[in-house]
Amino acid sequence: PAEDRAAVVTGSASGIGRAVVERLVADGWQVLGVDLEAADDLKGAETLGADLTTREGNRAAVDTALEAFGRIDLVVPNAGFQHVSPVADFPEDRWDALLQILLTSPFLLAKYAWPSLVEAPRGGRFVPIASAHALAASPYKAGYVSAKHGVLGLVKTLALEGAAQGVTAAAVCPGYVRTPLVEKQIADQAKAHGISEDRVIEEVILTPHAVKRLIEPSEVADVVAFLTTPAGATFTGVPVTMDMGWTAR
Ligand code: NAD
Repeated sequence: PAEDRAAVVTGSASGIGRAVVERLVADGWQVLGVDLEAADDLKGAETLGADLTTREGNRAAVDTALEAFGRIDLVVPNAGFQHVSPVADFPEDRWDALLQILLTSPFLLAKYAWPSLVEAPRGGRFVPIASAHALAASPYKAGYVSAKHGVLGLVKTLALEGAAQGVTAAAVCPGYVRTPLVEKQIADQAKAHGISEDRVIEEVILTPHAVKRLIEPSEVADVVAFLTTPAGATFTGVPVTMDMGWTAR
């Protein structure tokens, strides 16, 4: 039972972040969900509107949680987006924004929340939602793949720094999850290839999956919930890969 434990989850308005908030609330956690706009439909959670590509936004996320709960036991950096473009055309401001949201925001959240994580009586937890793209690349995703590989480096570093203080860090690395982020890629690819969305899912999106189905957001939330339990305590400095056989190849 989570009892009085408190979590910060970013990207909470949609997809995986929303599912993680719902799961933690159901498990009895106090949760602050952070997204570009505060959501009024996340039952049982506090919400904050903040732009996490800024230092102020990340500071506000931690400060708001500490004001509301007086503690932070778990940080789940999850906010993100994708940009698909060949490297020669990759817009430099999209690169900067991807690095800011996918790598710098997790770093800033860890930095600002660190004293609280160290104090967490049952061990602080830092559990970013990385990706199979933290372990393997795909063409045309230079910003995303680079940032996701980077967050795994951050997790390894924080695992070493937190080891003596009971703080663990583990990067959840899913394959393709059924969320608006992927639904947009499916729609774009269907247009680009002139084929149906079902064919895009089977023949384009799920090409790297050995198991040909999308992962559900609730399945990612299940893994985050597990990592917060005592049984999750040995997973530190590692990718927690849930990729339908993608990286087995
Ligand atoms: P999503 O688009 O459904 O949700 C992402 C959320 O992040 C949105 O609500 C968005 O508003 C928020 N966000 C984006 N920029 C922000 C900013 N500057 N400040 C605050 N909030 C911001 O996406 P999702 O599929 O649920 O992805 C969540 C995370 O999971 C991402 O880090 C993504 O890379 C990762 N991931 C997704 C998949 C997948 O297949 N969907 C697979 C592996 C990893």
